[in-house]
Amino acid sequence: MKKGYNVAIDGPAGAGKSTIAKRIAKEMNFIYVDTGAMYRAMALYLIRQGIAPEDTDRIAEVCSGADISIEYRDGEQVVLLSGENVNAFLRTEEVGNMASWSSAVPAVREKLVELQQRLAATADVVMDGRDIGTVVLPDADVKIYLTASSATRARRRYLELKEKGEEPDLQKIEQDIIDRDYRDMHREHSPLRQAEDAVLLDSSDMTIQEVVERIRELCR
Ligand code: C5P
Repeated sequence: MKKGYNVAIDGPAGAGKSTIAKRIAKEMNFIYVDTGAMYRAMALYLIRQGIAPEDTDRIAEVCSGADISIEYRDGEQVVLLSGENVNAFLRTEEVGNMASWSSAVPAVREKLVELQQRLAATADVVMDGRDIGTVVLPDADVKIYLTASSATRARRRYLELKEKGEEPDLQKIEQDIIDRDYRDMHREHSPLRQAEDAVLLDSSDMTIQEVVERIRELCR
């Protein structure tokens, strides 16, 4: 039996899902569940095992050994890999690329979907990802499909990296985004797509606050 109030936000990389989901969670006093971070933690585990992103057979073999859990510290989601807080290692291009490959492996998805469903069963959550409205929480109370043009998304990622003091290449970022979208949308298992009952929001020409307001309205 479903107990918590569930908000599902799906969409491609860089659409603003996590920024928006975090705001909504804060304003509504819900827990924010970042499922991308779980796929990234799995990816980090696989990288540390020396596995290549395309080696899906090995990924399927070793993924069951990953000990991934979630904790909340001062309202922030902390991802633990064998008890180690790995948040600081998750947002690199290398990890994102590995996550995009390994998340297509059914054994990886089964393991992480179960963890996500457990979290949503007992609490009010805003969960973001690629398959939340379609697979993880098909009965979510509100479903959003949040998107933006690849150029807008690339520019956002570029500015994010710039702010961290990196020297990013805008064209390469956009190409990576396009490649990752393609893999996420065309994989056999749980591809990224808008659930039939999800509301489509394009954030290209909306401010963060406008998107947040629209979602809060839908929740009301
Ligand atoms: O959202 P984020 O960029 O952190 O996700 C990293 C990768 O994890 C995505 O490119 C996608 O392949 C995968 N992912 C997924 N299902 C989710 C969340 C993320 O397949 N629910």
